[in-house]
Amino acid sequence: MSIKKRELEKLSLVIPCFNEEKNLNELTSQLIGLNDGRLEIIFVDDGSKDSTWSSILKLQNDNPGIIKGIKFSKNFGKEAAIEAGLKACTGNTAITLDADLEHPVDTIPKMIALWKNNLDIYIVNAVKVNRQKESLLKKMFIYFYFKVFSFSTGLELKNHTDFKLLDRVVIDKYIHLPENNKFYRGLINWLGFNAIDIDITINDKVDNESGWTVIQLIKYAKNSILSFSDLPLKSITWLGLLLFIFSIGLSIDTVVKAMNGTSAEGFPTVILLILIIGSIIIFSLGILGEYLSEIFNEIKGRPKYVISENVENNSENDS
Ligand code: UDP
Ligand code: MG
Repeated sequence: MSIKKRELEKLSLVIPCFNEEKNLNELTSQLIGLNDGRLEIIFVDDGSKDSTWSSILKLQNDNPGIIKGIKFSKNFGKEAAIEAGLKACTGNTAITLDADLEHPVDTIPKMIALWKNNLDIYIVNAVKVNRQKESLLKKMFIYFYFKVFSFSTGLELKNHTDFKLLDRVVIDKYIHLPENNKFYRGLINWLGFNAIDIDITINDKVDNESGWTVIQLIKYAKNSILSFSDLPLKSITWLGLLLFIFSIGLSIDTVVKAMNGTSAEGFPTVILLILIIGSIIIFSLGILGEYLSEIFNEIKGRPKYVISENVENNSENDS
């Protein structure tokens, strides 16, 4: 009896790069022998300010037929860079990984083996068993974010990374999802294909200067939740209902006190009520505004990125 296995004719490695000039040579030398050399490496330069693009051109020159380079006209963000790379890749599977050497390359053969040996598996997710060096504030924020995210979306993504192996079927579905605000980690999971997790230890010995600021993290958290869930929008209704119930109770209390001749205590209560209700209203308007802006951005239908140079195919000018 022969056990069926998948063949990997060509592996695509998709690597978003933002100011990564110092890491690309080392990363390429680690990757080049994978899958017995039957691979392509797609570097997407996401508007770097350093010489990332010239490093990519040099690597492309030194490794003809293996390296592809895509250059964005400005910084469009990691999600856009991953998408551009996935659109350009031609392998039977693609692995997305960071350029900053934090994702351990020695996990890749294990990911490939899992894909080859399990015909029903379409995604291999690398899941962190340790966290990068992070401040206490960041750690608390990330913990809170994942709690809110899994509550509002029903997806459990704690310790998931963008280091993933995707089968061609998944790549084709992902690149054709029409939405503009794409949250890679979440959407891949949302597609629903059978996935398997593999533990990785993030390599935090590398000099990681590109860590996110808390403001960037807040924006990222907000975008990922807004693009996935309408729970914050619906919660306004519930908040309104709660306030309504509270105000009925308070009204009854006030009337009863007035009839007994002990009228409700004065000024501080009124000020407090105005402040609390005022801030709830403004906060709710803010939530409405966020969703409106999501709709506004989606409806404009602008491309997610603009490619200014492409060193494998002829130049193309947008997505
Ligand atoms: N990156 C990108 N565009 C950006 C920010 C980051 O393409 O605007 C790339 C970056 O070069 C790296 C990966 O995305 O390859 C992860 O970035 P980073 O190390 O900053 O994120 P973290 O490791 O903190 O998640
Ligand atoms: Mg990093």
